Amino acid sequence: MRRKIFAGNWKMNYTVKETREFFSAIEGKIPAAKSGCEFQLYVPALSLTIALDLGKKSGITIGAQNVHWETKGAFTGEVSGPMVKEIGVNQVLVGHSERRQHFGETNTTVAKRCSSLLKQGFNVLVCIGETRAEREAGKTNTVLRQQLMALFHEGEHHCGSYLGKSLHVAYEPVWAIGTGLTATPEQAEEAHQEIRTVLTKSVSEEASKATSILYGGSVTPANFAELLKCENIDGGLVGGASLKPQDWLALAQILQS
Ligand code: PEP
Repeated sequence: MRRKIFAGNWKMNYTVKETREFFSAIEGKIPAAKSGCEFQLYVPALSLTIALDLGKKSGITIGAQNVHWETKGAFTGEVSGPMVKEIGVNQVLVGHSERRQHFGETNTTVAKRCSSLLKQGFNVLVCIGETRAEREAGKTNTVLRQQLMALFHEGEHHCGSYLGKSLHVAYEPVWAIGTGLTATPEQAEEAHQEIRTVLTKSVSEEASKATSILYGGSVTPANFAELLKCENIDGGLVGGASLKPQDWLALAQILQS
């Protein structure tokens, strides 16, 4: 059985002080994670230490939002796997569309990052998704296939052996991120079905069935339950709403209901 996951992505929001305030607002109110369910929270690098400490008490898996594929060297401004591992991070988000849009992340660098981090023993949630222009041009499935094939074609960065174990997928249509435009459950399920088919063909049916595929794009407590009813939607990756303690608690509750 694949895990159901509610993952929050704080992006570049919240200082260390604000992180503490967030955790004190949810303390004592977090539903105990049921077997097969997981809460993840991707916080800015500077808040990892405090969030790990506070997250441990509350059963939340704390993840890094971006980690370099090299383990050390001349990469000013970057953080490495060994650096975050040393403070207790085991989970990393890779390939978020904002990394692709603003920081030159490509399918190739996403694959490099994923394979390096998986080999270093991290759990990885990799993000894929089409832009509005790609959807309007009828290219959604082609784009999703290309993004996935970069991870699973034979070669140095092949990630197939980790799929469904330490590698899971978030489908985030770029046009739905931070815009208030959520994909309808039908649109999301169609994309998730396509992703699962590609995973089956490119890795194996067993790995594909074990892979949690999260939907992301303007998820809120008002639409999460409907999305979760879809057969191939195994959770949500949530930006804006995950910053609000009340919404965070409601989303955690909905995941498990
Ligand atoms: C995200 O940051 O991955 C995201 C989906 O953001 P939002 O929920 O705000 O659309």
